[in-house]
Amino acid sequence: TTPIRVAIAGYGNLGRGAQAAITHSPDMQLVGVFSRRDPASVTLIDDSVPVYAIDDIEQYKDDIDVLILCGGSRSDLPEQGPALASLFNIVDSFDTHAKIPEYFEALDAPATKAGKVAMLSVGWDPGLFSINRLYGEAILPVGETYSFWGKGLSQGHSDAVRRVDGVKAGVQYTLPSESAIARVRSGEQPTLSTREKHVRECYVVLEDGADADTVRSAIVTMPDYFADYDTTVHFIDEQTLASEHNKMPHGGFVIRSGVSGIDNKQNEQNDQVLEFSLKLGSNPEFTASVLVAYARAAHKMNLAGETGAKTVFDVAPGLLSPKTPAQLRKELL
Ligand code: NDP
Repeated sequence: TTPIRVAIAGYGNLGRGAQAAITHSPDMQLVGVFSRRDPASVTLIDDSVPVYAIDDIEQYKDDIDVLILCGGSRSDLPEQGPALASLFNIVDSFDTHAKIPEYFEALDAPATKAGKVAMLSVGWDPGLFSINRLYGEAILPVGETYSFWGKGLSQGHSDAVRRVDGVKAGVQYTLPSESAIARVRSGEQPTLSTREKHVRECYVVLEDGADADTVRSAIVTMPDYFADYDTTVHFIDEQTLASEHNKMPHGGFVIRSGVSGIDNKQNEQNDQVLEFSLKLGSNPEFTASVLVAYARAAHKMNLAGETGAKTVFDVAPGLLSPKTPAQLRKELL
């Protein structure tokens, strides 16, 4: 069988992760990387494929089965998605949750007209977490769904820490609160505020002569960012920051806590807890790995005649795998 011809549009963290994930997919072949920058200035993690100017992408229309969009959700995808959906099957990781319905519409019209599939908001949240929220609700209609995020590096909060007087460098992680998770896992179904669900941890390098207590108190009392959370500040040296805090970890949990059975004189109800968890060493490499599996599905769905905008809810799980349905029934069912 001929490999699926894949290309990447936008080469940042996600773009690099997508290239890596494609090398682990023997049924796929990376045709090239498209960038808005001067192709000569873009360095690939593996330079065995060419870099092209994205302005020239239309001439590769017949050479690409599916295009993975790796641009940012804030301004890249809203512009690139609808334009590229009129030329290619596309997959992206659009993660501005509140704007997903309108972005879906913006992709649906051009993709339908072009006879292509536009798969949006693929990744882990939105993405795998969304699927697990759906499973929980559909299977246990009587219950509550909880999403927790972390341990994860937060860019906005890290910037806020670095703006504090006396701070030379630093990072901030958001972690799920252990006590909140324990309550949810117990089947209690508590009502939790955002601030009860997560705690914050900062790793800070002080400027010469700065006072640790003054810096700590400036951080933990900072309105909007830290004042409403339990925040721990650790002071470290520059080498430790460089060696132990240079990754982009993330992860989290989706938990559905529900009950089954009928509660009356003859019967009692039973607690049922469904949990999905991720511990990610690299957020972008994992997100890109999800994108690559869904790129395979988008291509197969289009071959089967499907067109228009799709989300993870519209994809049958078997389509994600390079294995045949018969193989999957035998090996994994
Ligand atoms: P980056 O900022 O690394 O890359 C975004 C774009 O910026 C690239 O496509 C690239 O476009 C351009 N770019 C990258 N590096 C440079 C550079 N050195 N100089 C100039 N331009 C550069 O973003 P990420 O890859 O980390 O994330 C992309 C999106 O992924 C995020 O906005 C987020 O919305 C989404 N995401 C979704 C998740 C999910 O679960 N659904 C999880 C994690 C992320 P070009 O090559 O055209 O210049």
